[in-house]
Amino acid sequence: MRYEGSVYRPPSEAHSLILQATLGCSYNRCSYCAMYQEKRFRPRSRDDLRVDMDLAAQVHGADAIRRIFLADGDALILRTGRLLEILDDIRERFPNFERASVYASPQSMLAKSVDDIRALKSAGLTLYYTGPETGHPVVMERIAKGVTPEEFLEGAARVTEGGGKLSAIFLLGIGGVELSHEHAVASAEFANRMAPRYVSTLTLTAVPGTPIHDEIERGDLVLPDDHGILVELRTFISHLDLPGGAVFRSNHASNQLPLGGRLNADRERLVALVDQVLEDPAFPLRPRVDPSRL
Ligand code: SF4
Repeated sequence: MRYEGSVYRPPSEAHSLILQATLGCSYNRCSYCAMYQEKRFRPRSRDDLRVDMDLAAQVHGADAIRRIFLADGDALILRTGRLLEILDDIRERFPNFERASVYASPQSMLAKSVDDIRALKSAGLTLYYTGPETGHPVVMERIAKGVTPEEFLEGAARVTEGGGKLSAIFLLGIGGVELSHEHAVASAEFANRMAPRYVSTLTLTAVPGTPIHDEIERGDLVLPDDHGILVELRTFISHLDLPGGAVFRSNHASNQLPLGGRLNADRERLVALVDQVLEDPAFPLRPRVDPSRL
């Protein structure tokens, strides 16, 4: 495949074909995000993408490709007509294609109507990975998401109403020690209102060159230690209430305690597991990850 620059995908898309529908992120201002700093945002042409798809069919076999992740940072920002063309080209080439997924910034969700989401779903785009990171208004403003929690929820509601599935990501540690508890509670309440199909937590790993790294260096943001992160995780899980069902995961490389289960069914079990680890200082947590591995 002909990839340009670093390519990122959610852990659960490990077996999907990654197709760079756009390069970079059209927003590119979240204070903790270093993923697309080196790229200037631009959509890729239909011809370029068709060449990539044909190459993928040659390399992997057209029949083998079932799932496709549309990269880079917020391919959803493309016009709906353009996304439908990409999905048409995908369906034409890959007879066993099941579904496409995409990262969805709040700005790109708010740029779509419910009818847009419905049309995209009919064409095969069904899963939207979105990163509120927090549900706390002050923290969301500090990390420069560019929207308020209410605006974020409005964008997410359009996806749900149009039949799309949401996978929501929250960042442990991003409220610092000062707002750790409030961030955990507000994030769980935000997730409860959003009602995503998948909820996951990552742990903030500050990458040099990002504004949040500078804040930490200056001492303006003090991150919770390992114990504090686990307390935050416990608070977050214990406040989740998703009676419609959701899959919970904390299996990203940044997490020191990988967990997984179904909500609400496994909530008490997950909380008890975190409690067990909190009570055992010798419990072997995974080492904190080097930012260069992310
Ligand atoms: S919208 Fe996503 S990809 Fe873009 S800067 Fe924010 S976190 Fe990074």
